Amino acid sequence: MPGFPEGITGDAILKRMTDQAREYGAVIESGRVEGLTRDGGGFVARMNDREVRVRAVLLATGVIDHHPDLPGVERAIERSLVRICPICDGYEAIDKAVAVIGDDDKGVREAAFLRTYSDRVTLIHTGPAAALTDETELARMGIELIRAPIDNVTLEGDRVTALNWGGTFRSFDLVYSALGTSPNADLADSLDAKTGEDGRLFVDARQQTSVAGLYAAGDVVRGLNQIAVASAEAAVAATSIHNTLREADGWTVS
Ligand SMILES: Cc1cc2nc3c(=O)[nH]c(=O)nc-3n(C[C@H](O)[C@H](O)[C@H](O)COP(=O)(O)OP(=O)(O)OC[C@H]3O[C@@H](n4cnc5c(N)ncnc54)[C@H](O)[C@@H]3O)c2cc1C
Repeated sequence: MPGFPEGITGDAILKRMTDQAREYGAVIESGRVEGLTRDGGGFVARMNDREVRVRAVLLATGVIDHHPDLPGVERAIERSLVRICPICDGYEAIDKAVAVIGDDDKGVREAAFLRTYSDRVTLIHTGPAAALTDETELARMGIELIRAPIDNVTLEGDRVTALNWGGTFRSFDLVYSALGTSPNADLADSLDAKTGEDGRLFVDARQQTSVAGLYAAGDVVRGLNQIAVASAEAAVAATSIHNTLREADGWTVS
């Protein structure tokens, strides 16, 4: 995260951003938006048993990460022992023994990404044999392949000590899960916004989706899942919304 050389937790950065937004008058209401519909030129959002009418919407609903279905894995992810974002922390994998858990070719791509950091990368393929089509690429890059359903993750202190399967185990310094994500794009889908094959939203250069007035930023949009990227996209979208509204209200000069 730029500006935090000593690191910062997700909760801490969220609190800082929330406090900062409130300082400038932002009203933040917790709750789940259950539905989003068109209302003339604007939208109606249903949340907390009421309707909120707005002229424009910026969706920043993120994705759901698919985690390995293993005992203790959620806690291990919270403690960064099982990782999900090599773009975020691949630097820490330099020269380490790294395992990537995958169930299709996403695992191959993630193992290949990490191979530039370490020559000890192992892909543990837990999915069906046919889901792995890039096996020759693994051999070319010197990435070990193990086909096995994992039974357990053994944690000890501050590190993953072993992945266990079928009565055997292997120790790794770092474990990455490459099981993919599902975008939280239901609200946009209900308005027929255009998405890619992976379900993430298409936006134009001003972060507007294919639905006029519906903007999107962050992980729900096609691109790189990073806080700096999400913040930058949100800044572009917010400026665009502001300019569109003031133009509609006659507050621009020609
Ligand atoms: C374990 C982990 C480590 C990471 N490490 C880094 C890192 O070191 N550096 C970095 O730059 N990035 C990191 N990332 C990625 C980063 O967290 C994301 O790129 C960033 O949070 C994206 O922001 P967002 O606003 O798009 O989505 P999110 O932060 O996921 O926020 C989306 C929010 O919308 C809510 N939501 C969804 N649907 C609805 C609805 N219908 N109504 C109301 N609310 C809804 C969700 O509950 C969620 O709170 C990491 C991610 C994970 C999971």
